[in-house]
Amino acid sequence: MVQGRTSEAGARLKRRGVCFVISAPSGAGKSTIANALRASEPQLRHSVSVTTRQPRPGEKEGVHYHFRSMEQFEEMAAKGQLLEWAIVFGRGYGTPRAPVEEALAAGQDMVFDIDWQGHQQVRQALPDDVVSLFVLPPSLEELERRLTSRASDHPDEIARRMAAARDEISHWHEFDHVVVNKDLDRAIFEARAILTAGRLKTRRQTGLEEFVGTFGA
Ligand code: 5GP
Repeated sequence: MVQGRTSEAGARLKRRGVCFVISAPSGAGKSTIANALRASEPQLRHSVSVTTRQPRPGEKEGVHYHFRSMEQFEEMAAKGQLLEWAIVFGRGYGTPRAPVEEALAAGQDMVFDIDWQGHQQVRQALPDDVVSLFVLPPSLEELERRLTSRASDHPDEIARRMAAARDEISHWHEFDHVVVNKDLDRAIFEARAILTAGRLKTRRQTGLEEFVGTFGA
């Protein structure tokens, strides 16, 4: 019966959702890691960003990004509809505010695939909710190889992304956690462990006092 009482009390435990921010230089594998997390946990939400860049082949409106003009993007930013935004490679990228606020209040966790500038801003806006991870490639040579094997990016674009990669990597120390993506399965395992630990932080749980009270402690 003790078992029954504790699980009943346990059911009253609630928490806000976690903002799981994953950043990395382009080609380090952050999207693959984020997709794998979501595939194993369908309730994990993905923050769909707004961008002013053109869709790549296979990218769908509202799934990979909300594709908007620079004018529309600037209007959203001016109206405070973006939780954070940045200009990356000369294009606007931003996180719509409303879905994040709704998800967190409902206790749903959200994955953000954003850059270091976005991470700084989200951390400032939601300091208690962010758990952040920086994904490093095993080496710059490997990063270049991965970018070159992506058919969708033009050589000029690859050169730009390599320069940007060095800049992105220089911000690794601002993140709570760092994973080197040498072996993808291991990187996914580590990312999942970081998310799990973030969820279980004592200060994230509400109703803990009442629950622990049932133990007479
Ligand atoms: P891509 O064009 O390859 O999809 O993304 C380029 C860069 O923009 C990546 O580093 C990606 O993480 C970043 N990014 C994507 N969405 C957002 C966003 O909403 N905010 C910020 N700050 N960066 C973003």
